[in-house]
Amino acid sequence: MVEEKLEAPDTTPSGAIHLEDLERWDKPPPKEILEKQATVIIECLEEIPCDVCAAVCPFKAVEMPRINDNPKVIFERCPGCAICVQACPGLAIRVVRYKYIGDNSMVILPYELLSLPKVGDIVDLLDRLGRKIGEGKVVSVAPRTKYKTPLVGVSVPRKLALEVRYIRVKKK
Ligand code: SF4
Ligand code: SF4
Repeated sequence: MVEEKLEAPDTTPSGAIHLEDLERWDKPPPKEILEKQATVIIECLEEIPCDVCAAVCPFKAVEMPRINDNPKVIFERCPGCAICVQACPGLAIRVVRYKYIGDNSMVILPYELLSLPKVGDIVDLLDRLGRKIGEGKVVSVAPRTKYKTPLVGVSVPRKLALEVRYIRVKKK
């Protein structure tokens, strides 16, 4: 049987991918996984010669038989350790801890800009088009190390957990 091959989606003129496209590619974690554990969402749909996420994962949670394949997460194996988030050169991965505190989720994003926010800072939450969709509170910061991208953990309203793609630090 010939397996149907999904084409990379048409993006907006800005190059953004839509959540519906990601759902078509089974990229967002299923609801039952989100309800019980932290895990990743990988927004990488192009066939590029990169397998860093699969190579660094200590839980063998990313399947990629060939280097040009699209990364496929085995969500049951992924506890959201964020090692691949730090390592991905495309900033395409983030961790979602859907059940965080109260009505909030925690999202852990790669953050390459300077200066880094601090724990307790209120930041703007941006969607895939760079539009502000709300505000969140920084709850963790992992600074840059030699080979790793800094990580910022943000508490966000749960309804935005799969929509937050980046943050904007407010000017002081
Ligand atoms: S978050 Fe950790 S366990 Fe999950 S895919 Fe990335 S490296 Fe693997
Ligand atoms: S490391 Fe990042 S850019 Fe490379 S395949 Fe994985 S998700 Fe895509």
